[in-house]
Amino acid sequence: MEPAPSTGEEIGIDLGILNLATASNGDLYDNHRFLKQSEKKIRYWNKILSRRKKGSRRWHKAKQQLTKAYEQLANRRRDRAHKVSRQVVDQYDLIAFEDLNIQDMVKHKTLSKWILDASWRSLVVYTTYKAEEAGKCVIQVNPQNTSQECSNCRQMVRKTLDERTHCCPNCGYTVDRDVNAAGNILNRAKEQLETAS
Ligand SMILES: [Zn+2]
Repeated sequence: MEPAPSTGEEIGIDLGILNLATASNGDLYDNHRFLKQSEKKIRYWNKILSRRKKGSRRWHKAKQQLTKAYEQLANRRRDRAHKVSRQVVDQYDLIAFEDLNIQDMVKHKTLSKWILDASWRSLVVYTTYKAEEAGKCVIQVNPQNTSQECSNCRQMVRKTLDERTHCCPNCGYTVDRDVNAAGNILNRAKEQLETAS
């Protein structure tokens, strides 16, 4: 693997529920359509399995289908994470994510949350190792209040989960909520780099 050419570009990436990832420049990385398809299949075969007599031939058949659905989900997630991570590593020299180990938004209470969390983690892991190979930099930052802070003037702008637009009364910066969060993620990564150097 030869190093990817330096581009001088930087990006903050907000991992989300509506989209897999939203970048600080407004780029979107969607993937939820196929996740939903796999999720539906997993739910379906889980239900069938629970209705069949444990250990019976038909139960085994349903179990096989369920395993297949999980494998399909894993493959799709892997493919998507490889594609998106390749794209960002080729395009950017500095890539900033929120630290998923600090974040406690996802507690795996539902299958959907588990699927999302696994997708985010794959994306961060694949991007990190591709960046290492390419001689580029991945930084994970504290995710606290990334959606509330204004990425332009740093003022706290409280908003509920339903408010999709960040509109800063202090500096007037108005932008999609996730793009603002991605901006804060990038700001924090740059601050970390500055204090480290
Ligand atoms: Zn502001």
